[in-house]
Amino acid sequence: MIEFRDVHKYYGEYHALRGVTAQIKEGEFFSLLGPSGCGKTTLLRTIAGFEGISSGVVLVDDKDMARVPANKRPTNMVFQSYAIFPHLTVAQNVGFGLRRDPRTPAEKAVLVEEALGMVGLAGYGNRAAHALSGGQRQRVALARALILKPKVLLLDEPLSALDKKMREQMQVELIRLQRQVGITFVLVTHDQEEALVMSDRIAVMFEGNISQLADPETLYRRPNSRKVAEFIGVMNFLPADIKGETSDKIQLDVAGLGAVEIDQDQAPAAPSGAGAVVGFRPETLTILFDGQTATDRETEALIEEVVYYGDMTYYDVRLDGVASPVRISMRNVFGRPVLDIGARTRVAWSAGALVLFR
Ligand code: ATP
Repeated sequence: MIEFRDVHKYYGEYHALRGVTAQIKEGEFFSLLGPSGCGKTTLLRTIAGFEGISSGVVLVDDKDMARVPANKRPTNMVFQSYAIFPHLTVAQNVGFGLRRDPRTPAEKAVLVEEALGMVGLAGYGNRAAHALSGGQRQRVALARALILKPKVLLLDEPLSALDKKMREQMQVELIRLQRQVGITFVLVTHDQEEALVMSDRIAVMFEGNISQLADPETLYRRPNSRKVAEFIGVMNFLPADIKGETSDKIQLDVAGLGAVEIDQDQAPAAPSGAGAVVGFRPETLTILFDGQTATDRETEALIEEVVYYGDMTYYDVRLDGVASPVRISMRNVFGRPVLDIGARTRVAWSAGALVLFR
């Protein structure tokens, strides 16, 4: 549906997009994720036509967009600031994009009501837009974009002005809406959790380029660089020595864990020459309580820090012979104690959860 071919964008001297090549499939919920300034908004705006490109090609629906102005593209954009008109009613806001449409007012009213229904605002048409909550305004902005029946809906941090509860609710509604209307959604966000929850696929961007493009689970379980691993969730790192390697296995000696063999697909990163480290997520380690035994591997650790979150407890533990602590997240189970700082414990881990960066 959308394709970038070696897209470069300069703002004066500043190289904001550095050869982006990627494809977005029809009907997909696709996210551009990255830290502030990485170029994700710029890339989104090149789809909409609000931003010209310095070189390369942007295709939408198989057509080169080079000479297609923004208002002729099959795309529509929803902004962070909503940009709704406070002095108009909800229905007037939603119908705004139809003002040059030849349909009769009665036909337009049907379309407005249909769009309001999609975003859960049926019957709100006569309300003054200024009298809406933040979440309702965002829905009005969505309805206004959807009424034009774009092939691609572009969303630039659409939920960032909402509080946490409202944001989580809108995330679920956006997923539902996208399934219902079936059009391609492209979301810009700097919030990794939001991207993981909502997307079919995510492009993680740093410094004007895509570092990894994959589905949420692959990004989380098999990040292709330390940078991606650290940007998406929490990852522990331990230094490792590569002891041997075949076409399908790698033998390692990992600080604190000892000798271990992993599969080649657990080393998704291109060699960087920065030395080998092994990464693993906090939930892949388990504290063993009295009587429990490890199903795979186990090691000893000293508890250095305990942070209790109600449903979860985060433990920072020190493995023998390792300088920096390792984080373990444990789901709290009724009747099981939370361990104290200074306690020694056994920790279960699994070779399959390790990722090698080298
Ligand atoms: P944020 O989450 O902060 O919006 P972003 O990843 O969306 O970040 P962009 O807005 O795409 O980043 O900007 C990428 C880089 O290009 C930034 O360094 C920004 O300062 C620069 N930039 C963006 N727009 C312009 C402009 N019109 N003129 C000059 N530089 C710009």
